[in-house]
Amino acid sequence: MVSILVVEDSEEISQLLSRHLTKMGYKDIVLAASAEEAMSIMGLVHGGINKEIELILMDIGLPGVDGIGACQKIKSNQRFDDVPIIMVTGDTSVTSLEAAFAAGAIDYITKPLKMLELRARVGSVLRLKQEMDRRKARERELEALTRQLKQSNLILTNLSYIDELTGVANRRYFENYFDQEWKKAFRGHKFISMIMVDIDFFKQLNDTQGHRFGDECLRLVAGALSDALRRPGDFIARFGGEEFVSVLPDTTLDGAAVIGETMRTNVMDLNICFATSKTVSVSIGISGTIPDKSKTLKWLLSEADHALLTAKKSGKNQVRVF
Ligand code: GH3
Ligand code: MG
Ligand code: MG
Ligand code: MG
Repeated sequence: MVSILVVEDSEEISQLLSRHLTKMGYKDIVLAASAEEAMSIMGLVHGGINKEIELILMDIGLPGVDGIGACQKIKSNQRFDDVPIIMVTGDTSVTSLEAAFAAGAIDYITKPLKMLELRARVGSVLRLKQEMDRRKARERELEALTRQLKQSNLILTNLSYIDELTGVANRRYFENYFDQEWKKAFRGHKFISMIMVDIDFFKQLNDTQGHRFGDECLRLVAGALSDALRRPGDFIARFGGEEFVSVLPDTTLDGAAVIGETMRTNVMDLNICFATSKTVSVSIGISGTIPDKSKTLKWLLSEADHALLTAKKSGKNQVRVF
C-alpha cells in the first residue's frame, strides 16, 4: 500500500488534500501540520516513529522550518533521498520554485487545488518512483551477484593452491609464499629458514604395499609434518612426489633444526610399517640465511637440497643443517 505524507499547516487544505487522495484510491494518508511533525513521523528526529513514506506533498509556507528547509533536510538523509516530494504552493514565483527544485523537490502543484492536476502529478510521480525502485532492486541484485562471483573466484584461487591428495599447500603456493617471505626478510634483515623433507624408501613402500597405501602414507606424513609447525607464518607444502618443503620466516637455523627434529619424530610416531621390517621415516635438510644481494631464493633451496642429500647418504631418518 502506498503511504502519502501530507505536510500542510492549513487544516482546511490538509483535509481537502486528504479527501481528494482518498477518492483517487490512496488509502494510507498521513497528515502533519509542520515540518517538525513530518520529520518526527519519518523518524528523522529522535523518538520519531519511522513511518515508511512513498510520497510527500509539502506546503512551502509552514510555521517554523518552512517547506524548502524540510525538503532539504529530508533529501540530505540517505534513507529518504529517493522519496519524491511534490511542493504544494500558492507562490509560483520563479525564485520560490527554483529554491524548491534546488532543495530536491520533484514537482509542484498550485493552490487553489485542482483535483485533475493533483491526480496527474501524484500518478506520474508515483510511477516514476516505482520504476526507480525496480531499477534500484535490480542494481542491488546485481551487486549481490558480483559479490558472490568475487567470493567464488577467491575459493577457486584457493583451491588451485591446495594439493589434492594431502590437503596441504601445493608447489605453486609455496613458490608464491616463499618469494613474498624472502622479500620481507630481505627488507627487514630477518633470518629465514627452509626445511626440505623426503620420505625414505618410498619407492619400496609403493612396490611392496601398493600405490593406494602409498597415497594414504603421504596423507599421514603431511599431517605429521604440519603438526610440528606452531607459528601462524609457518606452513608446509607438497613440493612434489614424496617431498615436502616448509618456509619458516623469522626463524634461525637452530629454531628450524628443532622443528625439523619434531617433524622427524612425528613421522616415526606414526609407526607405519612396510616391507618386512621397515617403518616410514623421513630425511630432512635445512638451510637458512638473512637474505642479501649475493643470495637468491634458489640458492636457499639448493642449500636445503644439499643438506637433505647428506642426510640420505648418512643413513636416512635424520636431520641435517647446511
Ligand atoms: P629415498 O629413500 O632415497 O628417498 O628413496 P625413495 O624410494 O623414497 O625415492 P625415489 O625418488 O627413488 O622414489 C620416490 C617414489 O615416490 C617414486 C614413486 O613411486 C613415489 N611417488 C611419488 N609420488 C607419489 C604419489 O603421489 N603417490 C604414491 N603412492 N607414490 C608416489
Ligand atoms: Mg501554509
Ligand atoms: Mg624424492
Ligand atoms: Mg624419498
